[in-house]
Amino acid sequence: MNEKVKNEIIKLKKEKNFLIIAHNYQIGDVQDVADFIGDSLELSKIIKDVEQKNIIFAGVRFMAETAKILAPEKNIILPVADAGCEMADMVDIQKVLKMQKKNPKAKTVAYVNTTAEVKAISDICCTSSNALLVVNSLDVEEVIFLPDKNLASYVKRNTDKKIIPYDGYCYVHNQFNILDVKRAREKYPDAKILIHPEAPEDVQLLSDEILSTGGMIKYPQKSDFFKFVIGTEDGMLYRLKKLYPEKIFYPLRENPRALCVNMKKTTLNDILLALRKESGEEIFVEENIRLKALKSIENMLEIS
Ligand code: SF4
Repeated sequence: MNEKVKNEIIKLKKEKNFLIIAHNYQIGDVQDVADFIGDSLELSKIIKDVEQKNIIFAGVRFMAETAKILAPEKNIILPVADAGCEMADMVDIQKVLKMQKKNPKAKTVAYVNTTAEVKAISDICCTSSNALLVVNSLDVEEVIFLPDKNLASYVKRNTDKKIIPYDGYCYVHNQFNILDVKRAREKYPDAKILIHPEAPEDVQLLSDEILSTGGMIKYPQKSDFFKFVIGTEDGMLYRLKKLYPEKIFYPLRENPRALCVNMKKTTLNDILLALRKESGEEIFVEENIRLKALKSIENMLEIS
């Protein structure tokens, strides 16, 4: 059944000249029909250079918005309209404005996992792989960092600047705990434990490598290790197993697995319906907000 739908999607996207891109955390079936798979910023950057005007972004809303901010001339379609991000939605704009008022000397760094409105009131964006570089590049000593308190703790440990964190988190990564790491060490003593910096600080400190999803994709290739425990959303395991069939990957948390409900909302059928223009939502960002948010993203791209 899935094969039949996959073939129909592949046929239709060629006929209609659509591009399908999928985040690393999407279900395996959706990854299989994507033209590109990657993290949110990688995917958003690709869109500008492709010839297709119509893009189906299998991911969550802030990612599709980021793509629209960078490439306003493209039609960006989010196949499941209510696929949001709990961490992005945690940010209260009024609270950020208050933090900025209270800390007038600070600059504001917004993780790309934020809405267009939040990017628009920030000075610069960052990703989990360049957060430290972005913070260290700033010409101020105080930095408001939002929304992820765990990524903020990683940056704080590695910079001399004063980090003022927002109290947000990704519920998928924040659920990892030190017992998960201890269990994995006992069960897989010859495996490297890779953890995402959105995991709590004590889990980061007990793991072997702290890596963004992009970093996790590259790491097994250069490592002599054969086995890896993966501390991020479960979809990464599908991607890694496909990229490195000769290596072995285990989830850091086995029961229950670390799943992002919103990332798992998009099915093959949703992609098919979006291609037929029967469902999904085309993303629009108000021009005034888009231009300000673009400035924050461009400031980041200039230095990384
Ligand atoms: S994994 Fe976390 S940061 Fe990513 S979309 Fe889900 S809630 Fe948001």
